Amino acid sequence: MAAIKELHCPVCGRSYQPHEVQYTCPVCGSVGTLQVLFDYDSLRLQLDRDGLRTGEQSIWRYKALLPLAADAKVPPLRVGMTPLYDATRMAESLGLRQVWLKDDGQNPTGSFKDRASAMVVSKAMEQGIQTVSTASTGNAAAALAGIGASVGLNIIIFVPATAPEAKIAQLLVYGATVLLVEDTYDVAFELCYQMCLSEGWYCRNTAMNPYTTEGKKTVSYEIAEQLNWQVPDVVMVGVGDGNIIAGIHKGFYDLHQLGWIERIPRLIGVQAEGSSALVHAWQHGLKPEDMIPMPADTIADSISAGVPRDRAKALKAVRETNGAFIAVSDAEILEAIPAVARQSGVFVEPSCAAVYAGARRAAQTQLVQRDESVLLVMTGNGLKDIKRAQQSVSQGLRVQPTIQSIRQALGMGQE
Ligand SMILES: [Zn+2]
Repeated sequence: MAAIKELHCPVCGRSYQPHEVQYTCPVCGSVGTLQVLFDYDSLRLQLDRDGLRTGEQSIWRYKALLPLAADAKVPPLRVGMTPLYDATRMAESLGLRQVWLKDDGQNPTGSFKDRASAMVVSKAMEQGIQTVSTASTGNAAAALAGIGASVGLNIIIFVPATAPEAKIAQLLVYGATVLLVEDTYDVAFELCYQMCLSEGWYCRNTAMNPYTTEGKKTVSYEIAEQLNWQVPDVVMVGVGDGNIIAGIHKGFYDLHQLGWIERIPRLIGVQAEGSSALVHAWQHGLKPEDMIPMPADTIADSISAGVPRDRAKALKAVRETNGAFIAVSDAEILEAIPAVARQSGVFVEPSCAAVYAGARRAAQTQLVQRDESVLLVMTGNGLKDIKRAQQSVSQGLRVQPTIQSIRQALGMGQE
């Protein structure tokens, strides 16, 4: 296990011990999302990267770098160690030398969020808490419902009533209690937090719970290990609340502190134009505590957030790595769903299609140079949002059950 040295607030710089605070910085409030830091000097002496090559094919192969006891109980579902693909045709299409895809839609509930939920569920079990709750635009809720079901925890979900049907169905199938809030994600988020405080439920809310980032950081460990510790020049990912890009940054930060990688990749966060508060803050040099809520409206529901909850850590991730935030339109996102699938065989939801559209934009504007290697993190399976997938393509060819009709539909001559 990695003993926690401190929980550090990126806004005011104060540090806390884990028993002193459960969620965000008491001084800064919700903007002060805490970072879990370790004693890297002692970890460096205890661990070496080749020691990771155990047979464990999940995020728990990195247990020595996670804030859990060595004998901590963890959920049985296989989270993480998702495939990393060399997408040569995509690289060619984007005009880049090297493009990799990290396909996190292959996780048990179909999204990257399983990493965070597995970590939070482990922390709940460690504390003997029976009920875990979260607000979510969909994927985090499904992840918590699924991972919770694997260990028999009581899961209560607050979700905007407008979330895609497939995502809501998934929650119900896993047996979670589902509260469909007739309002935005931001409102659902606050309601969930209030109930957790008053009822003693463990709150998994993204960014509020400091351990979501610790689960999410494992993707960077995997990327580094799968690429034999030669990290990409650039890593791109979709950004709503900013917790995933913060987790990716934390993972590379840990490895860099340990001396296992030579540098941290430039991190580029892609937002939808209709939900681009971090692009705005980055372009205008705003401090996270000065950001004000902006309207959020995009087809990419997974990255729709009016007040990015992990704005402090997300801005830090981009600023400290000399990265960028960029925005793409819903039309570009829709177009990118089939483009990703046809160029790589990976079927993704809109929030990941946005990353591809962002990579295209970054290559065209030379934000990413042609000779740089780029990894796109694909966070959600395309089956999560069938409605948008259907909108992105034309219909199939309707035929009569005759060879003649088929030949006609295919534009072939008469036999
Ligand atoms: Zn603070």
